[in-house]
Amino acid sequence: MTAPAQSRLRPQPAPGAEPDWALESIRARGAVLLLWHESLGELTDRRGNDPESQALLRTLQFGARPPRHLSGPPSALLDRLRDALSRQIDLIVSYGQLDAAGVEFYRGLQRELDQLTRQPPDPIGLLLERVCDQVHAFYRDATGRPLGKDWPWISWQVLPTRQHPFEAADPYTAGACVVFEDEDAAVRIFVHSQHFGPEAYLSLPAILTHEVFAHVPARPREEHDPSVFTEGFLGWAARVFFEDSCQHVLAGAQALVRQHGRRLMDLQKFAGLVQTDGLSPARRTGHQYAEEVVSWWAQRNPDLAVGAIRLRLAALAARLNVHDGGLTMNDKDELVTALSPRRPAMADALQQYLEHPAGSLEPLLRAGGIHPDRTSPRRTR
Ligand SMILES: [Zn+2]
Repeated sequence: MTAPAQSRLRPQPAPGAEPDWALESIRARGAVLLLWHESLGELTDRRGNDPESQALLRTLQFGARPPRHLSGPPSALLDRLRDALSRQIDLIVSYGQLDAAGVEFYRGLQRELDQLTRQPPDPIGLLLERVCDQVHAFYRDATGRPLGKDWPWISWQVLPTRQHPFEAADPYTAGACVVFEDEDAAVRIFVHSQHFGPEAYLSLPAILTHEVFAHVPARPREEHDPSVFTEGFLGWAARVFFEDSCQHVLAGAQALVRQHGRRLMDLQKFAGLVQTDGLSPARRTGHQYAEEVVSWWAQRNPDLAVGAIRLRLAALAARLNVHDGGLTMNDKDELVTALSPRRPAMADALQQYLEHPAGSLEPLLRAGGIHPDRTSPRRTR
């Protein structure tokens, strides 16, 4: 795929030279989901769970199944899936109890399938590319400067898995993480090899926004346990940014992208209530601190829209994320837990930042008891 220069995005080949049938099967289903993205709402929601839609969605899962004896390059899966779907639509139109609008809907999907004979765009790479461009622009505006080498090269890879990322019986069967490799931030996208349907595809913009916003540009560039800064404050900021930007990722399916993104993020946020997801307490704590600042600032400034206040605080999260200055991730965690307007010194620093979001971060760091200079003693308390 073609990578725009500013997002520094490059695909990473799957390890090993063996053809990967599971990966090819995911790509084939993704290609159809991308092709049909404007019709997925009607297919999954508006037509309800009618047998015709269900049959078509089941064909999507089974039509791209690798053959029993895997040999040779897995190049024909997309053709097979297209033919299986087209045959299924013939059956639906012949035997389903459809009105004229229903016939036209399914025939429209069938006509679109013809476009798959050409080389389709990478269905997941395309989403990642758009997310990267938007997050990069937000960080550039928040920091007020070109990011240059502060923005890492982003490599990415889809990894088929048989594990459900949330170990639950929900349709959100994709997940992702970021691993740092030299100068690269590698986005690894896990997709359940047997179940990858509309909900999972439509939740990918939210998943990728979280990874690219919260983790890709993080400083220091090192592995770090999930914490109130990395998952909590940045997870909150990534969500604010997602709500503000998601309509551009898959125009034509924007309402669905928002709906499934929200559902997935709510599942993640509250997952700790039903299972032992170690991330959830950190997520909830970070969200709580951020929302406390938003409410406090909104009360003092009734003229400002709450959405605009959230974006201003999300820009602070972005600036802190790329701020190096000798700070460790633990320093950044401490700053989040000190980010309470109930402390007078912090209230002053927050007031100053929210009024002048392009100003120095130093007053906030000082108010949080974090010394930004590596050469000086780390703590001023
Ligand atoms: Zn995360």
